Amino acid sequence: MSDIVEAVGGVPALFGSNSFNDTTQRERLPKSVYKELKQVQSGKKKLTNEVAEVVANAMKDWALEKGATHYTHWFQPLTGITAEKHDSFISPVGDDKVIMEFSGKELIQGEPDASSFPSGGLRATFEARGYTAWDTASPAFLKSDPSGVTLCIPTAFVGYHGEALDKKTPLLRSMDAINRQAVRVLKALGNTTATRVVTTVGPEQEYFLIDEGYFNQRPDLLLTGRTVVGALPAKGQELEDHYFAAIPDNVQSFMREFNEELWKLGITAKTQHNEVAPHQYELAVIFSASNVATDSNQLVMETMRKVASRHGLAALLHEKPFAGVNGSGKHNNWSMGSDDGQNLLEPGKTPQENSQFLLFCTAVIEAVDKYALLLRTAAGNPGNDHRLGANEAPPAIISIFLGQLEEILTAISEGKTLTTKDGQKLELGATSLPDLPKDLTDRNRTSPFAFTGNKFEFRMVPSGDSIAGPNVVLNTAVAEILSQYADRLEKASDKQAEIKKIVSEQYKAHKRVVFNGNGYSHEWEAEAAKRGLPNIKAWIDCLPEYGKDYSVQLFKKHAVFTEEELHSRVEIYLEKYAKTINIEAGVQVEMVKKSILPSALEWLTGLVASIETLKAAKIDVSGPEAQLKAGGDLLSKSYGALAVLEKELAGAREEGDTHKKAKLYREKVFVAMAGVRSAVDALEGVLPADYYPYPTYEDMLFRF
Ligand code: ADP
Ligand code: MG
Repeated sequence: MSDIVEAVGGVPALFGSNSFNDTTQRERLPKSVYKELKQVQSGKKKLTNEVAEVVANAMKDWALEKGATHYTHWFQPLTGITAEKHDSFISPVGDDKVIMEFSGKELIQGEPDASSFPSGGLRATFEARGYTAWDTASPAFLKSDPSGVTLCIPTAFVGYHGEALDKKTPLLRSMDAINRQAVRVLKALGNTTATRVVTTVGPEQEYFLIDEGYFNQRPDLLLTGRTVVGALPAKGQELEDHYFAAIPDNVQSFMREFNEELWKLGITAKTQHNEVAPHQYELAVIFSASNVATDSNQLVMETMRKVASRHGLAALLHEKPFAGVNGSGKHNNWSMGSDDGQNLLEPGKTPQENSQFLLFCTAVIEAVDKYALLLRTAAGNPGNDHRLGANEAPPAIISIFLGQLEEILTAISEGKTLTTKDGQKLELGATSLPDLPKDLTDRNRTSPFAFTGNKFEFRMVPSGDSIAGPNVVLNTAVAEILSQYADRLEKASDKQAEIKKIVSEQYKAHKRVVFNGNGYSHEWEAEAAKRGLPNIKAWIDCLPEYGKDYSVQLFKKHAVFTEEELHSRVEIYLEKYAKTINIEAGVQVEMVKKSILPSALEWLTGLVASIETLKAAKIDVSGPEAQLKAGGDLLSKSYGALAVLEKELAGAREEGDTHKKAKLYREKVFVAMAGVRSAVDALEGVLPADYYPYPTYEDMLFRF
C-alpha cells in the first residue's frame, strides 16, 4: 500500500516528513535559537556551542520519535559515492542502563578515518586524520534501512588542517566566492537591500531502468555499470517512439514509490518522463541552493537504486550503459538569486533591472569562454568519455546558446539601436528589453550551455556523478568575472554608461563562444576549430588543466582550492580513470574468454559434426558451410583482438607513473577494448540465440 494513500493529508503531509527542514526547525526550536540558526545558515553569524547544543537536542528528539537509533555524518568523498559511519545515540548511565544522547559537539564535528578515502597525496604532506563538519544550510534527514532508521547529517569532509577531501567543501567555498563578488556588483549599482547572493541549481537526472534479472546476469553491468559487449538489435531508437510515450506499469509503480520516498525527504521531485532511448527516463526536481541541490541529487541517485530493486528493476546511472543508444546526462539548471528576491538572470521589468540582467549574463558568457576547459574538465568522468567527443554526439566543445538574447547583445556590442516589435528603440538603461520567450529549451537540445529564459542550463554534466564539481568551477569562474566588473563599477561615476561599456566590450571579446545552431553537426566542429574553441576529447587530457597557472590563480584568489588541493584532485582523477578502465577491461576479458568464445567454439564444433552428417545423407551443405566459414573467421578475429587486449592490459598494469598509466589505459587498453567489442559483437550477430551466454541488448532494452 502506498504511503500517500495511507497518509492523512496526502502529499503535503508526507512532504518533508523525514527532513529536519525549515518548517520542522521552526516548530521544534526556541524562537531565539531558530533565528540565530537562520543567521548561521546565511553566513551572517558563526555557530556557537550553545546553539549547536539546542539544535542537536531538538534534532535527536525529532529523530527518536520517528524511530531513529543511530546518527551519521553523511559526506561525499572523492570516490563519487556518499559515505557514512553510523553511531548509535546510546550513552550508558549507571551499570546497566542507557539513555539516548546527542550533543552539540557530535552534531558539529565527526572524525572518520581519513586514510580510507582518496586524498591524492594530501595525506603524505599532512596527516591521516580528518573530520566532517556540519553543513548547517542543508537539512538533516532520516534514512530507513533494514538495519533501522538513521539520522543523517550533511557534512563537509576535510583533512586535519582543513584541506578539502570531498566535493562539498569546495562547493561551499565557491558559493561564498560568488556571493562576495555578486553582492559587490549589486552594491556598486546602488542596491541597498541585497546582502547575500546564492547560486541555485535544479538538476534533471537521466537514467535507464532494466529488468533486475538481466542486470544480475551481466557481469559488466554489475561491476562497471555499462555493457562492454553486446550487439544492437534490429530495432534501436530510430523510430523515436519512446520519448514522452506512455510509461509501462511496473515503471509507473516504481515512479510512484520513488516520488514518495523523495517527497518524504523533502526533495521536490516534480517532472518525470520517458527519454529518447528505450527504457530511458528522466526526473527533474525544483531548484534550490547549490549545496542543498547537490545533496538532494545524491539522495535521488541512491533512492532510485533502492526503490528500483524493490520493483524488480535495476537503475542504471552510467553515462553510456549501451553502445549505439543515447547516453545519459544531467542537466544542471543554474542561476543566482539575491536575498531581496531577485533572480539575477531573469530579465526585469524596468530598464535598470534589464541592464543589470545583461551585465550578469555577460559575466556568465565571459566566464564560460575564458574557463571553458575547466568546465569541460569538471564535467568529465570515465563514463562521459563515451559521450563527449566520441563517435556519437555531443561533442566536447563548450558553446553557449543565447536564443534571442544574441541579437540584443550583438546590437549593444556594435553600438546599434535595436528596434523592438512594438516600435520601441532599445537603449541600455533607458528602455525595457523586449519579452524573451522562455520555451526555448526544446528547440536547442544540442547546446551544451543554453540560456533558457531565466537561467543557464549546463548539459554536459555526467549522469552518474555528483553535480558539485561542475558547479564549483562555474561559481568560481563567474565570481572572478564579477570581481573584475565590480572593480570597474565601484570606480565609475556613471554606472549605466559603465555597464554599457562592459557589456559591449566583453560580449565582443567573448562572442566566439556563442552558437545558436546545431551543436551535434560536423560543420560545427569545423567552425568551432576556426573560432579557436577547445575540443579535447579525452577526460585525462583535460585533467592537467586544473594544475595550470591560470587555474591555480583563479581558485587561489577566490579561496576555493589551494594549489595542493588542485594537484591532489588531478592525481585522484587520473588514478580513478586508470582503475575504471582496468576493471572494465578485466570484465571484458573474462566475459569474452570464459563464456562467449567457448560458447561459440561449441557451436562451431557442433556445426562441423552436423555438416558431416548432412553430407553423408547427401543433403546440400552450402548454407551451413557458409555459416561455419563466417563463424570461424569471426571467432579467429575475436581471439586475435582478445590477445591484443590482454597484452595491452598487462603493459598498463605494470606502469607505475600515474599520468603515464592513465594514458596507457586510454590510448592502448581502451582502444584494444573497442577492437574486442567489434569482433565479438559481429560474432554475436552470427551466433544462434541459444549460444549467447548473456541477456542480449534486445532483452535488456525491450523486455522487462
Ligand atoms: P524549462 O522547461 O524551460 O527548462 P523548467 O521550469 O521546467 O524550465 O525548469 C527546468 C529545471 O530548471 C527545473 O529543475 C527547475 O527547478 C530549474 N530552474 C528553474 N528556475 C531556476 C533557477 N532560477 N535557478 C536554477 N534552476 C532553476
Ligand atoms: Mg532540460
